[in-house]
Amino acid sequence: MNLAHDLFAIDSEQRTQSVLQAGGGAASTAARPVLVHDGRLATTRKGMDLSIQGIGKRYANVAALDAIDLDIASGELVALLGPSGSGKTTLLRVIAGLLHPDAGRLLFGDEDATQLSLRERNVGFVFQHYALFKHMTVAENIAFGLRSRPRRKRPDKATIARRVEELLTLIQLPEYGARYPEQLSGGQKQRVALARALAIDPTVLLLDEPFGALDAKVRVELRRWLRRLHEQTGQTTVFVTHDQDEALELADRVVLLRDGRIEQVGTPDEIYHAPASPYVFEFIGRANVLEGRVESGHFVAEDQAVRLPVAEHADGPATLRVRPHDLDLVQAGEGLRARVVAVHRRVDHVAVELAVTGQARTLEVDLIATPSVEVPATGSDVGVRLLRFRVYPVSDGRTSHA
Ligand code: ADP
Ligand code: MG
Repeated sequence: MNLAHDLFAIDSEQRTQSVLQAGGGAASTAARPVLVHDGRLATTRKGMDLSIQGIGKRYANVAALDAIDLDIASGELVALLGPSGSGKTTLLRVIAGLLHPDAGRLLFGDEDATQLSLRERNVGFVFQHYALFKHMTVAENIAFGLRSRPRRKRPDKATIARRVEELLTLIQLPEYGARYPEQLSGGQKQRVALARALAIDPTVLLLDEPFGALDAKVRVELRRWLRRLHEQTGQTTVFVTHDQDEALELADRVVLLRDGRIEQVGTPDEIYHAPASPYVFEFIGRANVLEGRVESGHFVAEDQAVRLPVAEHADGPATLRVRPHDLDLVQAGEGLRARVVAVHRRVDHVAVELAVTGQARTLEVDLIATPSVEVPATGSDVGVRLLRFRVYPVSDGRTSHA
């Protein structure tokens, strides 16, 4: 339990002050939004930004992080998204001060935090499997970080009790203070873990796949809840997930990691609608690939008459990516020439699989399964129209198709 103790016994003069001010009931002048006495939240002056500059971390033969640059604004909710092993946890641990980077530096506001200890950084941390203290009640768990401060910096008992009540209200478990963790559901436990992390009024809240162990339905509920909570608190938050939906739905900005590097940073809309590379396109959703080339401002596929305008690209070999719901079936003779090879019925749509003339790979078109939808017969010739797509040059090894 050493790590746990470290994580929750952390403090600093400034943080303690803001908690005390909050407990005192006045609209706080602390640098960050804090809880006020009646359980509502006061957003005060902007807090500090976080700046990650050239951070690198190597393990024996792996670059877990390679020259990561990232600025996180005060009050932002940023998702670190990427497959397993892409470096998400390593980056979160570097921000927390649980792990020292080999290269680069980290600024908390104007302060170089690279050498600061975990305690000095005053971060809040929630892990996927970070169990609550089993022998403590919910209220005691939440109070832990404040109670274990040195006496000089510790709020008095009444202030801590008030703070715990506020947090129980915030996580919508007002009657649960006296319960023990084993009397809670998985989702409730993670809400309590979040309250415990928030109790110290952290500089930044770090969440490592906090809903990863919960079932799908609870996961969706909790991520919506967390988003609303974030809108209330304005707490600067870094959220790690490998789940695309979770990242897109929850975050102000998404940072997509791949092999220890940032592949793209953007708003969910930017990441979804303007993926910077084939990798991002395919990681974020289902993708069809067409091979071809760019010729004087148009994408041209082998054996096809259609020329698709792609103004911004130089001539050369290229691939086109298009999502199954961004394709329309039209009559044969229009659009791309294709033949239906299979029809797959799903719960909410029909996926029509097509062999496109001149292409090695088949292509899937999603049709919404309304009663009136016209599903073409297997073996029939059809035309395919592209509503939205992205074209990528294949010259660069990293951006070429698999
Ligand atoms: P993620 O959280 O995205 O799944 P991690 O940050 O845990 O990824 O890991 C990034 C890379 O660093 C992986 O290749 C992983 O195997 C490696 N790695 C992480 N921690 C260690 C460690 N303690 N020792 C050796 N390699 C590690
Ligand atoms: Mg991880």
